[in-house]
Amino acid sequence: MADPPARPLVEDPHAAVRSQRHLPERLVIWDETLRDGEQMPGVHFSPDEKLAIAEKLSEVGVPLLNAGIPVVSPEEAESVHRLAHAGLRADVLAAARTVPADVEAVIRSGVKHIAIFVAASQVHLRYKLRMTEDEVVDASARTVARAHEAGLHVAFVTEDTVRAPLDFVERLYGAAREAGADRLVVADTVGIMTPLTFRAFLREFKRRVRPTDWSVHCHNDFGMATANTLVALEEGVNSPHVCVNGLGERAGNTSLEEVVMALESLYDYRTGIRTGSLYELSRLVEEISGIPLPPNKALVGYNAFAHEAGIHSHGVLRHTLTYEPIQPELLGRKRLFVLGKHTGKAALVEKLKERNLTASEEQMGALLSLVKAKGEARGKGPARELLTRYRAYFENPGISEEEFSAMVEAVGITDPARPAPAVPAVPVRSGR
Ligand code: MN
Repeated sequence: MADPPARPLVEDPHAAVRSQRHLPERLVIWDETLRDGEQMPGVHFSPDEKLAIAEKLSEVGVPLLNAGIPVVSPEEAESVHRLAHAGLRADVLAAARTVPADVEAVIRSGVKHIAIFVAASQVHLRYKLRMTEDEVVDASARTVARAHEAGLHVAFVTEDTVRAPLDFVERLYGAAREAGADRLVVADTVGIMTPLTFRAFLREFKRRVRPTDWSVHCHNDFGMATANTLVALEEGVNSPHVCVNGLGERAGNTSLEEVVMALESLYDYRTGIRTGSLYELSRLVEEISGIPLPPNKALVGYNAFAHEAGIHSHGVLRHTLTYEPIQPELLGRKRLFVLGKHTGKAALVEKLKERNLTASEEQMGALLSLVKAKGEARGKGPARELLTRYRAYFENPGISEEEFSAMVEAVGITDPARPAPAVPAVPVRSGR
């Protein structure tokens, strides 16, 4: 197998387009795996597990990580405290609502970075927070000022920024900055931005707020989190929020590995991340979170560097650039040739070579027939069995109905006719 040359074999037809890109000189990759990633249904990290992931993130070169929200539970407070005092190379951040007790809990934890968050959109203010715009501005300014006075680096975050009225966004972020916020975070909390609409929003945000140090927090509800995050970086955002394996609420957050590898390989930008350890990091988070990687997940999925089709295997064996955008070794992975129905001779020659064997033309034909026949005859039994168990678990990864009923009984709630409290139907408007 020929090594790909250091320089591209062919003229890059997109060099002119690429030369128009502007990225900030330095990026602070902000990892959210231990906060938003942990909020993924069914995921829970113990203090030991948080520490193991944080150590790996730090080792890989992630400069900033959110350890969690100390006010959530005593265990969470312990996790944050341990990470803050673990001597990690990465800066450790903890999050707080615009509630004084939350901020005090972060200060007590010993971290040097805080993210103070509040919602910004009308639907959140009216139905969730039940606060007026004035009250939100007030609570934000007061809590940001307190954290700033305590000597913390303060990031000010609003949830659902992209659906909030821009005049309010301008006023709120202005107040937070005046109170001492060091970094401003824009969130597409429900993942409704597209690269074009997000670009337009960020340009307007820049025009009105003039941020210097700012972040975006994108969700993958329509599969555009990575694309939107890259657009944001092109607009000057210097601290993307990411999660390993794209973990996070609902369809998850922007994938750490996608953003890092896109920057390294497609933008020729040095992120400071040791990419050769990314696959190890991904596997560790897969194990600890219990959320299996989809086979077709970009870069870290089981099939991201696997080939079965004869034409593809043949091409890759002649030169890997034929059917692979980058070398798997860049992420610390290996390519895999899968034998099956679509296998061609070239892959068999390679497989035999690994065994120091050669075959005659006739033997090769016979071997190929055997492989194809086996590939076609292989039942889907093992896959179906796995799928049945996978669905049984992931269709409700939390506490089961039976377990919950037992808890209801345990605390003495006995009236089965008691009606559930009515939940008001919220009209949802798309767009900003
Ligand atoms: Mn989120």
